[in-house]
Amino acid sequence: MTDQSALKSVYPASAEFVAKAHVDAAGYEARYAASVKDPVAFWGEEAQRIDWIKPFTRVKDTSFAPGNISIKWFEDGLLNVSANCIDRHMLTRANQTAIIWEPDDPKEPAQHITYAQLLENTCRVANVLKAHGVTKGDRVVLYMPMIPEAAYAMLACTRIGAIHSVVFGGFSPDALANRVNDCEAKLVITADWAPRGGKKTGLKDNTDKAMLHCSDKVKVLVTKRTGDQTSWVEGRDFDLNAEMAAARPYCPYVEVGAEDPMFILYTSGSTGKPKGVVHTTGGYLVFASLTHQVTFDYHDGDVFWCTADVGWVTGHSYIVYGPLANGATTVMFEGVPTWPDAGRFWEVCAKHKVNQFYTAPTAIRSLMGLGAEWVEKHDLSSLKLLGSVGEPINPEAWSWYNTHVGKGKCPIVDTFWQTETGGHIITPIPGAIPQKPGSATKPFFGIRPEVLDAATGQVQTGTEAEGVLCLSDSWPGQMRTLWGDHQRFEEAYFSQYKGYYFTGDGCRRDADGYYWITGRVDDVINVSGHRMGTAEVESALVAHDAVAEAAVVGYPHDIKGQGIYAYVTLMKGVEPSDDLRKKLEAWVRHEIGPIAKPDLIQWAPGLPKTRSGKIMRRILRKIAENDFGSLGDTSTLADPAVVDDLIANRMNRG
Ligand code: ATP
Ligand code: MG
Repeated sequence: MTDQSALKSVYPASAEFVAKAHVDAAGYEARYAASVKDPVAFWGEEAQRIDWIKPFTRVKDTSFAPGNISIKWFEDGLLNVSANCIDRHMLTRANQTAIIWEPDDPKEPAQHITYAQLLENTCRVANVLKAHGVTKGDRVVLYMPMIPEAAYAMLACTRIGAIHSVVFGGFSPDALANRVNDCEAKLVITADWAPRGGKKTGLKDNTDKAMLHCSDKVKVLVTKRTGDQTSWVEGRDFDLNAEMAAARPYCPYVEVGAEDPMFILYTSGSTGKPKGVVHTTGGYLVFASLTHQVTFDYHDGDVFWCTADVGWVTGHSYIVYGPLANGATTVMFEGVPTWPDAGRFWEVCAKHKVNQFYTAPTAIRSLMGLGAEWVEKHDLSSLKLLGSVGEPINPEAWSWYNTHVGKGKCPIVDTFWQTETGGHIITPIPGAIPQKPGSATKPFFGIRPEVLDAATGQVQTGTEAEGVLCLSDSWPGQMRTLWGDHQRFEEAYFSQYKGYYFTGDGCRRDADGYYWITGRVDDVINVSGHRMGTAEVESALVAHDAVAEAAVVGYPHDIKGQGIYAYVTLMKGVEPSDDLRKKLEAWVRHEIGPIAKPDLIQWAPGLPKTRSGKIMRRILRKIAENDFGSLGDTSTLADPAVVDDLIANRMNRG
């Protein structure tokens, strides 16, 4: 068993790391204090990190007042995102690699795309879009593999002021059609096929199916990825590669207002129908750029790798916009962590000498389950920093990541944020804030978190506090509205606790002022009057050597009000048994206390996850409640078969 006491401690960055870091402890304290005391001065200054075509005169005009939720930053400024991400680097970095593209199949060569090449390709796509009548404010949906063309297309939209909405390539035709219709897109950019993990998905086929449910005015641009055959609808489908080759290699960028929409991105849907989150141009770019530099302590010349897909906000902010605005070298990876083998991530780190590596706890846990020998095979000496995003990282996974990947010398930044926040809002700043495994630590500059009592909405004024996480003031990266539905925006985020942005997440603040995200508020369980975050029980289970992954939900219990139902995935090679079940119950009892002992444990070969790897607890809740007639929106589920197995083997049949 792992020594849990070792995990309770605090991990400062090494003196060597701190000496080189952009921000040290004193710097963090001073800048954070300034950012909340005078946000206008702070952000007015920070916004100078990007180029403005016309400088803004007003920094902040925001209101969280009920009935008048309005968020504007740098409102009268004009800028262009692609000019900031590409053109302005041309004098100093034209021949520097902007994007390292690593294909799905390691036998295929990687590509190194320089800033000069990025400019030309982006311009060519922009000219193609213009030729198809796309203009400022039009919506363009991208449904693409993780290939450089996806970045060109995103940047090309921003170059001409079109609004992109990237739909993850793993989504179904229905999910694609819903999004195309919701944002009334004029055009869809896709690819013939998307290779992933040695298999390929027919993106063009899926697009054809989706188009049956969309306006016949929508055009489709198709890029070749594999070159395998696809069907073709004359007059609707166009060959992107051929048109790029024929297009002019330069396209002037347009002036875009700071508050003009830049992109729409639908949330992952782990709690219900996806929401069309709208981000605007100026504030988003400032925030993505600043958080990328500070949280990852990115320095010129570093190779930065975020393993997300551009279909998620993480891919927007930390593969494309943040890194490129900073003139970075960013890795774009088409594949999966476990193909051709479980060492792929580490092989890519070694091959491209990655300095900062940013991934999700779900990936770490699944690799942990396959054994550390896959890590040890590769030379990871280039790594300086590790990051985590998407879910609370349980201390066990944190420790594995720290020991085997970081070799104990890389700070781990556990970044808490959302599609809605545009960038990190609670996160360790690596040279400044000592880490505690499992805690996202402290607020980023300009972020004003408050812990509110979930029931009364009272602000918890003591340092130590527990409740729901809200933010009392705006920051530049904040979403502005939900596409076409400002009322749902108010209802979803500002109606529960008046005057605050409500994250939907529970949290605890400890005596050192560190924040611990305890999971979504919907996921809190109440056992005999004791409120408990499901994350805590899951962490305890995962800390057991036999357990690879666990998901915990509540279900109605005659005596306790709610009982604890745990779905447990065992480590490879471990056999389920009643004896093991008893051991796990005793283990949780010992780790947290008798109150947290699971009432029912179901062995789960797999857990229902969204395409971004998040556990869909609302489905698990339904199964635990023995009520699985209507599971709600499951269109973003990665593998629907998992659900059938869980239903068949459910433990509560009462
Ligand atoms: P939907 O809103 O449609 O249900 P979603 O919330 O899963 O989908 P995202 O915006 O991708 O969509 O995820 C944000 C959520 O992920 C946060 O609200 C939080 O619950 C969780 N999260 C992200 N990072 C962390 C982290 N470092 N620690 C704990 N939780 C995290
Ligand atoms: Mg959410």
